[in-house]
Amino acid sequence: MADFQDKSVLVLGGSRGIGAAIVRRFVADGALVTFTYSGSPEAAHHLADATGSTAVQTDSADRDAVIAQVRNSGKLDVLVVNAGIAAFGDSLDLDPDAVDRLLRINVHAPYHASVEAARQMPEGGRIIIIGSVNGDRMPVAGMAAYALSKSALQGMARGLARDFGPRGITINVVQPGPIDTDANPADGPMKDILHSFMAIKRHGRPEEVAGMVAWLAGPEAGFVTGAMHTIDGAFGA
Ligand code: NDP
Repeated sequence: MADFQDKSVLVLGGSRGIGAAIVRRFVADGALVTFTYSGSPEAAHHLADATGSTAVQTDSADRDAVIAQVRNSGKLDVLVVNAGIAAFGDSLDLDPDAVDRLLRINVHAPYHASVEAARQMPEGGRIIIIGSVNGDRMPVAGMAAYALSKSALQGMARGLARDFGPRGITINVVQPGPIDTDANPADGPMKDILHSFMAIKRHGRPEEVAGMVAWLAGPEAGFVTGAMHTIDGAFGA
């Protein structure tokens, strides 16, 4: 377990699910954690009270608000961009505004937040983006926009790794497979089809993803950048 004593961590999208597990993990490891939320104030305040972290309402679909939030966070040691949404449905029927909103949250926000964070990060800063194994493999219909958004993060991380590398700032993408959250419950209707693709036939736990994030943020991972780290029970294998 890495020691994040007094390190400053910002998690975009931390009120529930994987993001909340990441908040809890960094707090447990000694960090000073701020996280954003949008639609779940109750969950956010409950988590903040329980952990001693700070919750701030910032909609990741609002580019300028995201940039301002990162800028106002001051000297950041670690940025985690977790906020993400899915849009299900035939691409011929999906509302184009819903697709554009997804792209603002899943792609534009990670890009602008990463660049703004790098402006003020000290040498050795860490940026971790939560992508998806669907950036590599999309075995079901109706999720093209989501897959597009998660693949886009791969090119972003490769490019920004080049830009930030000279200052020792790393940027990596963590690519979960099915993880038990509100967005993808372990007992949900997709369970059997998802498990049929996997070698380890269960949903992952948010804490398992948080463990990988913590390792990437820690001192052992200083030479790891511009890379995708898949944690998926072999969903994508
Ligand atoms: P949940 O829907 O359970 O939680 C999403 C989190 O993101 C919430 O804290 C939510 O906050 C926040 N969020 C969503 N939209 C916004 C927004 N516009 N502004 C700010 N915060 C926002 O999702 P998961 O925990 O399952 O997913 C987290 C990440 O992991 C996503 O990027 C997702 O794509 C990825 N992922 C998840 C997988 C899974 O199987 N669960 C698999 C692969 C990847 P609030 O409710 O307050 O708006």
